[in-house]
Amino acid sequence: MVKAVVGANWGDEGKGKITDMMAENADIIIRFQGGANAGHTIINEYGKFALHTLPSGVFYKHTTSIIGNGVALNIPVLFEEVKSITEKGVPAPKLLVSDRAQIVMPYHILFDQYEEERLAGKSFGSTKSGIAPFYSDKYAKIGIQVSDLFDEKLLLEKLQKVCELKNVMLEHLYHKPLLKAEELLVTLREYKRMVEPYVCDVSLYLHKALKEGKTILLEGQLGTLKDTDHGIYPMVTSSSTLAAYGAIGAGIPPYEIKQIVTVCKAYSSAVGAGAFVSEIFGEEADELRRRGGDGGEYGATTGRPRRMGWFDCVASKYGCRLQGTTDVAFTVLDVLGYLDEIPVCVGYEIDGEVTTDFPVTYKLERAKPVLQTLPGWKSDIRGIRKYEDLPENCRNYIEFIERQIKYPITMVSNGPGREDIIYRESSLK
Ligand code: GDP
Repeated sequence: MVKAVVGANWGDEGKGKITDMMAENADIIIRFQGGANAGHTIINEYGKFALHTLPSGVFYKHTTSIIGNGVALNIPVLFEEVKSITEKGVPAPKLLVSDRAQIVMPYHILFDQYEEERLAGKSFGSTKSGIAPFYSDKYAKIGIQVSDLFDEKLLLEKLQKVCELKNVMLEHLYHKPLLKAEELLVTLREYKRMVEPYVCDVSLYLHKALKEGKTILLEGQLGTLKDTDHGIYPMVTSSSTLAAYGAIGAGIPPYEIKQIVTVCKAYSSAVGAGAFVSEIFGEEADELRRRGGDGGEYGATTGRPRRMGWFDCVASKYGCRLQGTTDVAFTVLDVLGYLDEIPVCVGYEIDGEVTTDFPVTYKLERAKPVLQTLPGWKSDIRGIRKYEDLPENCRNYIEFIERQIKYPITMVSNGPGREDIIYRESSLK
């Protein structure tokens, strides 16, 4: 059986924690899209970790961690990350890398930087991890697959073709040093040495695992609103963040995905540019940012302060719908315990009309939040394990949001640890 853990919003919803928690009862955890451009923060008995490429199940001895074909694979970053966790006493993960995954090349990272420089103030707020140039090349069919590392003659030919194209841009658009195929080949030989022991025909491996009744977790990166097609284009990421893409990015039949856990944070945060209707500013935002997540809302990859906002029912309902949500995991609720009153965005006013359906980008830019204020619970809810033990106003907040988004909230996370979870029966299930 396959389960997916994905985000409803702009990312940073706490997917890492939920995946780490669900991995206890899984055999295989697989990353199916994105690259080292975002991070998951996980806290467990080994310490606190920011993972960028490794799936969040790497901390268990019984799990196999897989990098699927849909991932933008930065090989040195992956192995640095393996080193960083084993140095802290985590047993070496059982790791497999799809032979069809494509490689983030050093020039992808350079092109990302050069393009941000060129756009200056008008940039997309890229993390400069090479993700957009990587996916552009993948779909332009000039990407390098892991399997290409094993045929040097063909590889050199491919690199020569790439250099021809890239060097035109480097010379005339960016005015930067040119690429040499032979030098890239030396780098790729090193990459091959690193990755070789882990290379696997992942879709075949998963096919067999499914026949054996294994449980597979698909771990998404970012959230619906950053999806290339369904997000706030063009302020999106360059791969699909939807559970449906898990089938492609891992290589499994779509009908095998039986449970889709969509992670929704109890308030909003976003990184990078783009419309953010329920955004708040000033001291109100600073306080939520300071108290948010675990140790503040700052990017796990970049350290950038995240933009903050109230819970957005319009964006989250849409986010859950596009994911095909079977369960909502409602996270970081404990953080809101300091507020007397909690505003929630229940609609968007666009050109004088109120809607609860998430619009396309140009309308989104004009949307103003319709806020409804709920009473706070003014207490620390960490450590509570039973739903009925939560303060009444806290339960009212959860149930109000569930009625707005119309997807069942079956898990409530009230702390960063694995054990900080409350399971709940929902009338919507
Ligand atoms: P991801 O990219 O979706 O995995 O999210 P991040 O890891 O970037 O951000 C989530 C942050 O919130 C991390 O620092 C987590 O440790 C923390 N976190 C997750 N769930 C909870 C929760 O229920 N309460 C609190 N206080 N922090 C949480």
